[in-house]
Amino acid sequence: MLIRLCYASNRIDHQDLLKDLSDVLATSIKCNRANNICGVLYYARGSFFQCLEGEKTVVEQLFNRISRDHRHTNIKILSQETIAETTFQDWSMQYVQEKKEIDTFFRERNYPFFQPTELKTYEVSGLLKILLSKENTIIDKSEDSQQESPKGYRRGYSGYLSS
Ligand code: FAD
Repeated sequence: MLIRLCYASNRIDHQDLLKDLSDVLATSIKCNRANNICGVLYYARGSFFQCLEGEKTVVEQLFNRISRDHRHTNIKILSQETIAETTFQDWSMQYVQEKKEIDTFFRERNYPFFQPTELKTYEVSGLLKILLSKENTIIDKSEDSQQESPKGYRRGYSGYLSS
């Protein structure tokens, strides 16, 4: 049985953001690909939103591991549902760079900005629709770059990280 699980959390600021993001994505790409899990990760303003799709037991095991990860806290499941097919099937983990459109989505729903841990279950599908329409972002963690930088966009697994 396939499920889609969406959760939100707050990042724990203990080390370099780019290192955290690139480490998380590198692990996600490798492990999710091996476990037929796909999804999307969005990070902005100190919070994560992630959607995981795949076999129920596999997604639940992964979520248990993610829940124990000390790089984030205040982890809240926003929605969990059975699905007929996966939506993010081209992506073991798509990463979407911070978008004004997402802040607008939250403001239109009376949140001051991107606050995914406050999101209601019925609001999750609207957020997923926006994320699905976005390009993947490669995180540039080279030393001269202190910011997330969209170095390029490419379908598939190899294009996430640039050295
Ligand atoms: P280990 O690799 O044995 O790690 C144990 C603990 O050490 C982790 O829980 C973490 O707290 C810490 N740790 C591990 N690596 C690092 C590092 N590079 N820097 C600092 N601390 C570290 N994993 C996936 O496979 N798929 C996903 O989709 C996925 N999404 C994630 C989303 C978020 C927001 C976060 C924070 C993590 C995500 N992870 C994901 C990583 C996941 O939490 C586990 O670290 C990973 O699955 C490996 O599990 P493990 O039990 O082998 O942990």
